[in-house]
Amino acid sequence: MAYDYDVIIVGGGGAGMCAAIEAHLAGARVMVLEADTRLGGATAQSGGVFYAAGTSVQRARGYDDSADAMFDYVMTINQWRIKPDLFRVICDESGPCLEWLIELGALFPPAQLVKGGVEPVPRAHPSAGAGSGIADVLINRVGALGIDTALATRVDGLLVENGQVVGIRALGVELRAPAVVVTTGGFGNSPEMRARFYPTAAQHGDRVWAVHNAAPFILGDGITLGESIGAAITGHDTGLLLPSSGHGKNLEPFLPPWLMLVNIQARRFIPEMASYSITGYALNEQPEARGWAIFDEAALRTASHDIRYLDPYGAGINLPTWEEDTIRKRVAKGEILVGETLEQLAVKCKLDPRALAYSVEQYNADCDARVDSHFFQQEEKAFPVRTGPFYACEVRASTIGVTGAGLDIDRECRVLDEAGVPIPGLFAAGEVLGVLMGKRYAGGGMSIGPAVVLGREAGRRAAAYRYKNA
Ligand SMILES: Cc1cc2nc3c(=O)[nH]c(=O)nc-3n(C[C@H](O)[C@H](O)[C@H](O)COP(=O)(O)OP(=O)(O)OC[C@H]3O[C@@H](n4cnc5c(N)ncnc54)[C@H](O)[C@@H]3O)c2cc1C
Repeated sequence: MAYDYDVIIVGGGGAGMCAAIEAHLAGARVMVLEADTRLGGATAQSGGVFYAAGTSVQRARGYDDSADAMFDYVMTINQWRIKPDLFRVICDESGPCLEWLIELGALFPPAQLVKGGVEPVPRAHPSAGAGSGIADVLINRVGALGIDTALATRVDGLLVENGQVVGIRALGVELRAPAVVVTTGGFGNSPEMRARFYPTAAQHGDRVWAVHNAAPFILGDGITLGESIGAAITGHDTGLLLPSSGHGKNLEPFLPPWLMLVNIQARRFIPEMASYSITGYALNEQPEARGWAIFDEAALRTASHDIRYLDPYGAGINLPTWEEDTIRKRVAKGEILVGETLEQLAVKCKLDPRALAYSVEQYNADCDARVDSHFFQQEEKAFPVRTGPFYACEVRASTIGVTGAGLDIDRECRVLDEAGVPIPGLFAAGEVLGVLMGKRYAGGGMSIGPAVVLGREAGRRAAAYRYKNA
């Protein structure tokens, strides 16, 4: 049987390029097909945070960490609802894969190491140059190895013969290979896919957008390709939703600490400075899946200008949404509500005035005492809601950070059918998978880390498979 290549990679983002490099190094003739006019995908657009344990970067900061501890944390926070054998691979290989990226030229400054979620030691490794700091070294490596790539080539079909995937179809042309690796990323940019696979996001209607919008082909093609040949789709309604004030397509994953956040019962339900890996889930679990950020004139005049609060996590993302000028413009447009008294504000927001008054009273007492007696957080509550006029901005977790539904794989990255049986010749890695998320996003870096680990694994497995079947 004549093949054009040994391994075809569908999607030239982070996972795809890692798969291509490893398959090539294993001796396979590799072709990467990329729908966009450039390699990199969402990986290149991302914050470039890589989640890993037991790294030289952690050691440089004096942290003793291990794959065992990472496994324990990720499995616990997901209530063991993710595949343990797959996550064992991800945890074991996270550290070595970060070191591999460093060897390729990526930089992960120890000073920037942070906690990505609620783990006991920092494991979120920000790359210097954000996502392009990682994507660029992979693009350079793919080029240096002379791996074939075709840009502006959107794959729209898989070739199957005798139950075995034997190639792809793109632009009306068929290309044959004994192994195909699907690395097409998530589906955040597709309203249809969001409605089908991420109803918690879709419920927010016009407010929903995906941070992937600069990577136009993050449309869920891998799911469509898989479904067309009977692949199982799993991870329904999982992913990461980030809080949003509804101010256009602005990335605003953190709320500034000078807001009081309440639900529609006018009750605080989470510490305002909770990790973004938590806030979205908590918001979507509130009645009507929304809340209100409440603040007063004094906070607007002072805190919104305080440079400490523009990037409260030191994550390199500032919060223009919460600057005074922007807020006043939004007040004028009626997007942020204002009341001369708290009672007036409550009426405009359809909150129970008594409940809001009581919550504010408790909050203000905490501010005066410089404690958070409700959530026992270490950061001080320093901005009482006391000086009118008073403001309220509706907050929803409606910005898609990562989508979690997608293909099912086993620990060898083989795509599984509805019966849980591997589909011969088909492999997958990255955000196209439906097995990475579980109930909770374990922390910042938990997409790129697994994409690199499993991308490399899928590339090696696909190359080995080709030797058996070419
Ligand atoms: C702004 C932003 C910030 C983020 N920050 C972080 C972070 O700091 N840490 C973290 O872990 N995660 C982060 N994420 C998420 C993370 O970037 C992605 O989950 C991850 O990079 C996905 O990698 P991937 O290789 O699976 O997909 P991608 O890198 O998105 O690559 C998929 C590629 O497949 C191509 N493609 C799609 N369909 C087809 C088709 N039919 N034919 C051919 N090609 C196709 C796409 O064009 C794309 O190039 C962020 C995402 C964004 C957008």
